[in-house]
Amino acid sequence: MPTDTVPEAPRARAPEKVRFEGVTKRFGDHTVLDGLDLTVAPGERVTLIGPSGSGKTTILRLLMTLERVTDGVVHLDGEPFSHMPAGPGGKLVPADERHLGPRRRRIGMVFQQFNLFPHMSVLANVVEAPRHVLGLDADEAAARARELLALVGLAGKADAHPTRLSGGQQQRVAIARALAMRPDLLLLDEVTSALDPELVAEVLDVLRDVADGTDITLLCVTHEMGFARDVSDRLLMFDRGRVLEAGTPDELLDAPEHERTRSFLRSLR
Ligand code: ADP
Repeated sequence: MPTDTVPEAPRARAPEKVRFEGVTKRFGDHTVLDGLDLTVAPGERVTLIGPSGSGKTTILRLLMTLERVTDGVVHLDGEPFSHMPAGPGGKLVPADERHLGPRRRRIGMVFQQFNLFPHMSVLANVVEAPRHVLGLDADEAAARARELLALVGLAGKADAHPTRLSGGQQQRVAIARALAMRPDLLLLDEVTSALDPELVAEVLDVLRDVADGTDITLLCVTHEMGFARDVSDRLLMFDRGRVLEAGTPDELLDAPEHERTRSFLRSLR
């Protein structure tokens, strides 16, 4: 049979973990994101870089539904996440809290501030959500928490209180706590910015191990370009709520096309 008569197989849609479709976010009359389109593939590691105020954290907060989109739709795993179909026509309307709660559980987030519960032991901090949100029994949740504390190098600190730990150790507990929910998407928002310089490396080393040891999808905001280069498949340079340029770490860090990217990278040195 001549090949030109063979019907072409329907092309599978590229799998997507996250997709921002025409997302606009305004605070009052300040437009932070303006019709942003952005796709992250399953297992991909993407780092957002760019000057302060360019909208990077807002992207992570929209994904965590800590903020709501002004316009557009955020999709997760190929389905609307910020929205849900309603009525006979299946028109998309903003998802309500009842739907958002379970959806949000699939996402882990680590913030600049560790936000550990100060009155609970390290172990209790990590056990809390798997016990009360996932409903794991106490033994199973504790076993999982101990495994994760070992992963972040804190097996010996399970019974300590967070206030007795260094900032780097507290942030490692926060990473273990996020991973305890077994997220398949992990958002990292400037996780080393609040740390003394000598504590940054230990946190980034733990995150490198997490990235190497799992197929978790990572979306990071960081000013640590060494870390960004090591863990990222792709860097996106943001400027005023838009992606100014994108590329592999080598492309973007070694041969940026735009002067704004060059001057931003120079400002970090
Ligand atoms: P980046 O992470 O790139 O530094 P952000 O996403 O934090 O940028 O912020 C982008 C812009 O949105 C900033 O000008 C910031 O002041 C503004 N912004 C963020 N959150 C709020 C809010 N809750 N209310 C008003 N403005 C906000």
